[in-house]
Amino acid sequence: MKLLEEKIRQDGRVIGTEVLKVDNFLNHQIDPKLMQAMGNEFAQLFKGQQIDKVLTVESSGIAPAVFTALALDVPMVFARKKKSLTLSDENYTADVFSFTKQETNHIIVDKRFLTAGERILLIDDFLANGQAVEGMLEIARAASVDVVGVGIVIEKTFQKGRAILDEKGIHVESLARIAAFEDGQVIFAD
Ligand code: 5GP
Repeated sequence: MKLLEEKIRQDGRVIGTEVLKVDNFLNHQIDPKLMQAMGNEFAQLFKGQQIDKVLTVESSGIAPAVFTALALDVPMVFARKKKSLTLSDENYTADVFSFTKQETNHIIVDKRFLTAGERILLIDDFLANGQAVEGMLEIARAASVDVVGVGIVIEKTFQKGRAILDEKGIHVESLARIAAFEDGQVIFAD
């Protein structure tokens, strides 16, 4: 997606050889017009899939996921990372190792928000080693919902997440694909 690539070139900051900081439009401050355009793009890419719900993980997946859900006119559910007093005891859970934080998060979805047989689209901000998506897939399996595909805002093709999902035969669409970071510059894959 041209608009996103331009934004990454303009505002993204490369940290070392593996991490992109995009906290001024995606991970901390949010650019709502860009999020809306991305939501429309995901809705277009997964058109005709009869999606019932969008699922993501808090917090960075929420903005792109909610605009995707808006474009598809369906609800959006986000997996929580912390158990709160208001959360019921009837949950689906999975452990997700965070690539950027180097810690394991327990992700939680209330059973009331996923119904067996529903067709679910997974959305996340980044695809690196695939841990976050695998956690969502585990929850989807436990809930007996069908995952129609995975929408990723920024995929890093040099990490193993994409290969893992391809091996499972999952339909993955990424709005920007990064092949490498070289001398602090982003090298796009296509
Ligand atoms: P994975 O689970 O695929 O290894 O990593 C994806 C998760 O880690 C995303 O939800 C995202 O929050 C975080 N992440 C992975 N790589 C990056 C990166 O280069 N920059 C940022 N800002 N987050 C990343």
